[in-house]
Amino acid sequence: MSVMSANAFGSNPSHPDQRFWDCSIVGCSRSAAIDLGGCERCSSHFCVRHVDSTLHPCSKDPLDDDEWSAGREDELRKLRQMIKVDQLVAVASAARGGMECSLKLDDTEQVRMGGMHVHFPVHFIDGTVWLARVPRHTNFQSFSDQLTDEILLSECATLKWLEGVKLPAPKLGGYGLKGDPGNKVGVAFMLIECLPCNPFDRASATEDQKRKVFSQLGDLLTTLSQHPFDRIGSLTIDGDGSLRLGTVIGDRTGTLSRLGPFKDAAQYYVAWAEEYLRLVADGQLFGAFPVTAYLMFRYLRELGSQSLGPVETTQLDEGPFYLKHADDKGDHIMVDDEFNVTGVIDWSFAKAVPAYEAFGPSLVTADLGCLLDGKVGLNPDDLLLAELLEEKAHPYAHFARYGDRVRRFLFGPGTGMSPTEEEAVVIFKGIVETCGEQIGSWDEWRHNHLVEWSGDATLRRLTDSK
Ligand SMILES: [Zn+2]
Ligand SMILES: [Zn+2]
Repeated sequence: MSVMSANAFGSNPSHPDQRFWDCSIVGCSRSAAIDLGGCERCSSHFCVRHVDSTLHPCSKDPLDDDEWSAGREDELRKLRQMIKVDQLVAVASAARGGMECSLKLDDTEQVRMGGMHVHFPVHFIDGTVWLARVPRHTNFQSFSDQLTDEILLSECATLKWLEGVKLPAPKLGGYGLKGDPGNKVGVAFMLIECLPCNPFDRASATEDQKRKVFSQLGDLLTTLSQHPFDRIGSLTIDGDGSLRLGTVIGDRTGTLSRLGPFKDAAQYYVAWAEEYLRLVADGQLFGAFPVTAYLMFRYLRELGSQSLGPVETTQLDEGPFYLKHADDKGDHIMVDDEFNVTGVIDWSFAKAVPAYEAFGPSLVTADLGCLLDGKVGLNPDDLLLAELLEEKAHPYAHFARYGDRVRRFLFGPGTGMSPTEEEAVVIFKGIVETCGEQIGSWDEWRHNHLVEWSGDATLRRLTDSK
C-alpha cells in the first residue's frame, strides 16, 4: 500500500465542484482517478481505465532519486519565476514597522517543501526569522487558484483566531491571495513566524518525553474546549477583516469539495460520506474496486446518520462545536530539545467539529498498524492521553476513553491512501467491529448489502458496468 502525501491534490478550475481533473486522453470524457491516475513522469491525469493502458506509455516504476530531485527542482524553478521577491520583502518589512529584511529564493538548503506548501525563510536584521509559506502553485497536482485562496484564507483566519485564544501557533505576519489584484507578489502566500524547533516524533520519543508532550497537548485541548462554536465549519476572513465560520474547506486528504456549514453532526457526517460516494461513483477515488468502495461508504453514510458519539451525549450532536486540527499526526506539534511544546503548525483544513470528534481519539495517538489491520480497541497512547486529560479535568476527557468510532469512520477504508481491495476490506472490518457488529464472511456481507441496497440506482449502474 502506498501512502500518498496528504493534501497533495488539486482541483480542476473548469469543474470546481464536480471533478478534480479530466482524463488526459483525447476523446475520453471520464474523470481522472485522483488516487491512481496521476503520472509524475508526464505530469498528466488519467482515468482508471487509461492510466495503465497502451495510450499511456510511461514507465510505471516509481521515480528514482535523481528523477525525483529533478522534478522538485523544476517545480521550484517555475515557482521562483512567479514570485516577486522585492514585493514580498516589502510586505514583510511593512508588517514590522519598516524593519529591513531579506529573502533568498535560490538558497535550496533553506527551502522546505511539504505536501502542499513551499517555505522560504525571511531574515530580519534584528535576527527574527519568518517563513513565506507559499502554496505549491506549479505542481501538476496543485489546487486551482480559487481553492488555493480559500484554503489559505481559512488557515490565516485560524491562525488569527488561535492568537486570540492564546494557543501557541505561528503568528500571522501577513498574507496575499492569488485572486486579489492588490497582491503584487505573484503568488498566494502567508508570512508566518518561524518556530525554531523540531516536529515531535512520537515513534522515537521515550515514554517520559511522550508523557511530557501529551500533557502539554492536554493543556492545548483544554484551551480549545473553552472556545466553542455554534456550527460545524472552517474559519475564514470576511472582506472587512473579521473572522467568520464558513464552509468546511475539505478534509485531510484534500479531495473533498466544500461542505456545510452544518448545525447538526449527522448532517455533517452524512454529507462527508455522500461526497465520497459521489467520488467513488465518478471513478475519482477507489476506482480499482468501485462497487466494494461504494458499499463501504454507503455503510458509513448509514453510520453517520446515527450519532457517532456516546449514546448519553446525543445532545452534543447539535453543538457546541470545537476547533480540530485536520492532520494531527504528531509532527504538527513543535518541540524544543527539552520537549517543551513551542507551538502547533500546519492548520490547513482545520474545522469546528462535534466535541467527541474534537477531543476523542485522533491521529496523534493512533496506532496506524491497528487501523490498517482492523484491530479494534484503543491503544496505550490513547489511554495515556485520556489519563492526562482526566488529570486536568478536561470537560470532555471521557470522550478520549469512550472509543474510536469517529477516528475509524473518518479513516474510512483507507482515505488518503491507495489500499488494495483486500487491504480496504480488512480496514473496513475494523470499523464495523468497532461499532459492535461482526462481518464474518466478507463475501456474504457484500452480497447481503448488494441485495439490501439494490434500489440504489448509482450502485446498480456500478454493478452493471463491471
Ligand atoms: Zn505518464
Ligand atoms: Zn480516460
